[in-house]
Amino acid sequence: MADLKREATAASQIITPIHCPSCMSTRPAGVTATQWALLDVGFTERGLQIWCRRHDVNVAHVDFEGHRHPVERVHLDRPRGGAEPPA
Ligand SMILES: [Zn+2]
Repeated sequence: MADLKREATAASQIITPIHCPSCMSTRPAGVTATQWALLDVGFTERGLQIWCRRHDVNVAHVDFEGHRHPVERVHLDRPRGGAEPPA
């Protein structure tokens, strides 16, 4: 198993972003998918769910099938809006 503590960084490691298909079909020109996304992500009794707040629909629900997985949570002191912390 990968060493989560060693791999965790302040940078995104997302290889394949997940977006709401409805949001992507209504995305204004000049707005990136990340800027347009309006998603909640959180743990559920089954696993991890991605929920579109704009359309009030499930985007993905990952079922852990009863398994527990290690989670590395990094809390950075970032101002609201996700801007980079000062150097
Ligand atoms: Zn949506």
